[in-house]
Amino acid sequence: MATATATSTARRMYIDGKWCDADSGRTLKVINPATEEVITEIAYGGRAEVRRAVEAAARAMPAWMKLSSWDRAKVLKKTAELMRERADAIARTLTMEQGKPLAESKAEVLHSADTFEWFAEEGKRAYGQMIPNSAPGKRHVTLKHPVGVVGAISPWNFPITLQARKIAPALAAGCTIVSKPASQTPLCLVQVFECLIEAGLPAGVANLVMGPAQEIADEFLENPAVRKISFTGSTEVGKQLMKGAADQVKRLSLELGGHAPFIVFPDADPEVGAKIAVMGKFRNNGQVCIAPSRFYVHKDVEKKFTEAAVEFAKGLKLGNGLEPGVEIGPMFEKRAMDHTVGLIDDAKKHGAKILTGGKRSDRFPKGYFFEPTVLSGLTPDTKMLTEEPFAPVMPVLDFGKIDEVIRAANNTRYGLAAYVFTNDLTVAWRMAEGLEAGIIGINDPVPATPQCPFGGMKESGLGRELGHEGLEAYLETKYVSFKLRD
Ligand code: NAP
Repeated sequence: MATATATSTARRMYIDGKWCDADSGRTLKVINPATEEVITEIAYGGRAEVRRAVEAAARAMPAWMKLSSWDRAKVLKKTAELMRERADAIARTLTMEQGKPLAESKAEVLHSADTFEWFAEEGKRAYGQMIPNSAPGKRHVTLKHPVGVVGAISPWNFPITLQARKIAPALAAGCTIVSKPASQTPLCLVQVFECLIEAGLPAGVANLVMGPAQEIADEFLENPAVRKISFTGSTEVGKQLMKGAADQVKRLSLELGGHAPFIVFPDADPEVGAKIAVMGKFRNNGQVCIAPSRFYVHKDVEKKFTEAAVEFAKGLKLGNGLEPGVEIGPMFEKRAMDHTVGLIDDAKKHGAKILTGGKRSDRFPKGYFFEPTVLSGLTPDTKMLTEEPFAPVMPVLDFGKIDEVIRAANNTRYGLAAYVFTNDLTVAWRMAEGLEAGIIGINDPVPATPQCPFGGMKESGLGRELGHEGLEAYLETKYVSFKLRD
């Protein structure tokens, strides 16, 4: 986390329809990870500002939920349009504060605009049910009712996408929301809020707060007006929120850590598999919850796969994400880079052979640049195989039999994503049925899309975002029973 200071150039919070500074005037520096320079300073509030945002959201909710889903959709659709119009400018901000290459940033803005548009439409399908009666004269129906005010917390790796997956369905369902982005990547979300406001967002319906995470979470947990917390981030913080939510039985959606296996079968071309694997692995420097992070390759093709993966990884262009042609930007912060160095040291101690990369790039005087790394020869207790690495490291392991690889793939507390590379339909089905993961990509390294459910099994989370389930997460089911007169 960056240090808090006081200046007048802060970007602001948005509470109850107004842009505002922290009551104390406190601000926080936002750093560009490619240059280590301060981009700007943001307003850095505290519990009092968050309480005001929650109160505003609670006041705004009755009118917002009474609007028809068609009228709510107009605001969300217009937001999507404005985001598309401004995609280049928003992407530039995202690259500067997060580090990912401009093309990836633009794809994130456009994917998030699609999320707003998709939930605008899906909000119109918050159907209840008519349930056949067993007793004469009775009629049974279910109605959908918005959960209430939502507190939404998200991390820095996809600062727009991960808030869009909360704001769009919450608003579509008739809820109101208080959003808290990661402290180091708030600026692109400020620009998304500008789109929401120009699209006709009524005061209080969506609010943007920044400040110390624990204080904000405490207000979300303790204020009875907040009926649901939607959190994306580490499994450890997710568990703390789950404990805290018990007191008031708050609804929770948790999108947590992952440790995805990528499994290569011998029936398909290993060089094509290596290209897909490298593409999935090094996107956003491996700082992706669904990034493949353990590569199990059948022993008949392991050599060819590994050689090709090393060549592809070596060919990736590392640099400042704002420069044309750059495919890999800096890591997000120094702490992430130091963590990666630690993972490599541990792997070496466990007998790993570094096939390419393995160190901070020496081509850049500033910035957190780490060379895309491929390794082999790791023992099962190597840290990067047991803990979520969140780093540009690609450990290659081999296997012989399908049951053996399913066991190895499932041998983790995580269950977010898994990837399979094969052309054999029977193998693909057996893997889809056998793997303990909420998202499975068969020959598809980038499976997320607004209309399909996204979320994890085991310690990777609770509930689903996106898809119809992503809307249901913001709705309660009310059952109404009628007894008609005889
Ligand atoms: P993190 O430390 O849990 O932080 C994520 C968010 O939670 C940030 O906004 C952070 O605020 C806030 N936070 C920190 N401590 C908190 C606390 N005690 N109570 C409430 N909120 C708190 O996660 P991270 O390490 O930055 O992010 C990477 C993790 O997110 C990885 O584990 C990754 O797999 C996971 N992730 C999951 C998904 C998914 O969809 N399943 C998607 C992306 C990332 P500050 O920034 O102010 O500290």
